[in-house]
Amino acid sequence: MHDLFVIGGGINGCGIARDAAGRGYSVALAEMDDFASGTSSGATKLIHGGLRYLEHYEFRLVRESLMEREVLWAMAPHIIWPMRFVLPYQKGGIRPAWLIRLGLFLYDHLGGRKLLPPTSVLDMRKDPAGKPLKANFTKAFEYSDGWVDDARMVVLNARDAADHGARIMPRTKVVGARTDNGSWTIETVDVVSGRRETHQARMLVNAAGPWVDQVIRNAFGQNDAHHVRLVQGSHIVVRKKFEGPRAYFFQNPDNRIIFAIPYEDDFTLIGTTDRDYDADPRDVRISDEETTYLCNAASEYFREPVTPADIVWTYSAVRPLFDDGASKAQEATRDYVLKIEEGQGAPLLNVFGGKLTTYRRLAEHALEKIGEAIGAKGPNWTSQSRLPGGDFPAKGYEGEVAKLQQRYAFLPERQARHLVRRYGTRSATILGGAARMEDLGRQFGSDLYEAEVRYLMEQEWAMSAQDVLWRRTKEGLRLTAEQARDLEEYMAAQPASLAV
Ligand SMILES: Cc1cc2nc3c(=O)[nH]c(=O)nc-3n(C[C@H](O)[C@H](O)[C@H](O)COP(=O)(O)OP(=O)(O)OC[C@H]3O[C@@H](n4cnc5c(N)ncnc54)[C@H](O)[C@@H]3O)c2cc1C
Repeated sequence: MHDLFVIGGGINGCGIARDAAGRGYSVALAEMDDFASGTSSGATKLIHGGLRYLEHYEFRLVRESLMEREVLWAMAPHIIWPMRFVLPYQKGGIRPAWLIRLGLFLYDHLGGRKLLPPTSVLDMRKDPAGKPLKANFTKAFEYSDGWVDDARMVVLNARDAADHGARIMPRTKVVGARTDNGSWTIETVDVVSGRRETHQARMLVNAAGPWVDQVIRNAFGQNDAHHVRLVQGSHIVVRKKFEGPRAYFFQNPDNRIIFAIPYEDDFTLIGTTDRDYDADPRDVRISDEETTYLCNAASEYFREPVTPADIVWTYSAVRPLFDDGASKAQEATRDYVLKIEEGQGAPLLNVFGGKLTTYRRLAEHALEKIGEAIGAKGPNWTSQSRLPGGDFPAKGYEGEVAKLQQRYAFLPERQARHLVRRYGTRSATILGGAARMEDLGRQFGSDLYEAEVRYLMEQEWAMSAQDVLWRRTKEGLRLTAEQARDLEEYMAAQPASLAV
């Protein structure tokens, strides 16, 4: 009998499982597909307070998120790093300068900023940030937020939960749940083998993201469940539009905003959109209308227009927002809501909404409720913790790269950088006793080698080329279709015992 059974391997499910396992609860987690295959790999990937939410008076959420920026950065300095955002200002534009100044003043002072530099004002006629933009943007504000590799943050939480003793089951769908004598019996199906299994738990956590209502309807038979509003957001990736590490924050005439962010060395990520969605979350794709919207919005700012022909990749995801009855999709609350239900004979916790940025705090709040329902275990612990591979100082990335290159002198700098960004101090586990490139095994394309793929299969539950190319890494941007097929064949030929 487990204490907790978690449905959903997105950031919220994995974050709760990790926190609970670290306190000594016995935990199991089922994810019906790959980790982060739902919303948690489709974000804009900002660890941010959310400047825009100030306009909707979401002070609780903004304050909690601002304080989380440096906590998360310290917890995972390989996959999270600070980023400066350039917000071009135009006289007579969408928001007056005083309003932007006030927003940024609050942003700087609401809480938690110790290492991140404060807001500054840029003369875009002199600053290199002005170069790729149209000449009418002569002034800009520059402020701090953070960036995260979202899909890796999810799998590192799953890894750490497993390292603390949790049973982690990818490709395992929850198809039913009932209560007997004060505990849950949960039925799962292995979606690869078709094998059915039942599990016992004292408490159930429904962290199924956009599927949360579907789980309530299908697994618990509550046919009228309607708690989340599904809001689609899409991104386009184009070849690098500008140099340097800073991102842009663009305001659009419809009052919305988009970001243009340096991405994976050679690219620029542009997004996002905001529109209501009512089909299956798994089928979400960018529409032509959204593509046009993003290209036009970015072209208002860049000297060189962005056209659909520049696009090398797109992705789209669905926000599972708590339905607070707001009229417009972009006004629906981004805050999370945790609801305990005791009426079924054993406790159930439903998780609605949330952001990548607030997942750790969401987990702490969930653990409070779990403690009240089945008895508390252990104090809060994650704010001082490290995710796997993140055991080096927040500002220590360059030092880790240098160390890795010292130990593995044959490694090209670019590859050393990629490895430290993905795996931090665990890069050495991948490289092991290698003394030359050939020791890393077969090269699948770009700098993806067999040693890394085997690590991902052994330690991070990677089962398909898609898992490796689009979630554990973003090598999908660089490999050809043929190289991706070779990787798929290689992975399919590996013995099942490779998986954790
Ligand atoms: C376009 C966009 C941009 C965003 N940008 C940001 C940002 O910049 N910063 C930020 O902080 N947040 C951002 N967010 C929000 C953030 O991405 C989400 O709040 C977060 O990823 C939600 O995680 P989740 O775990 O609740 O859901 P998910 O990641 O969707 O996880 C739920 C999981 O449950 C699984 N599941 C469903 N049903 C079952 C079942 N029956 N059995 C087993 N498993 C099941 C699914 O397969 C899925 O993997 C953005 C979101 C979107 C859509």
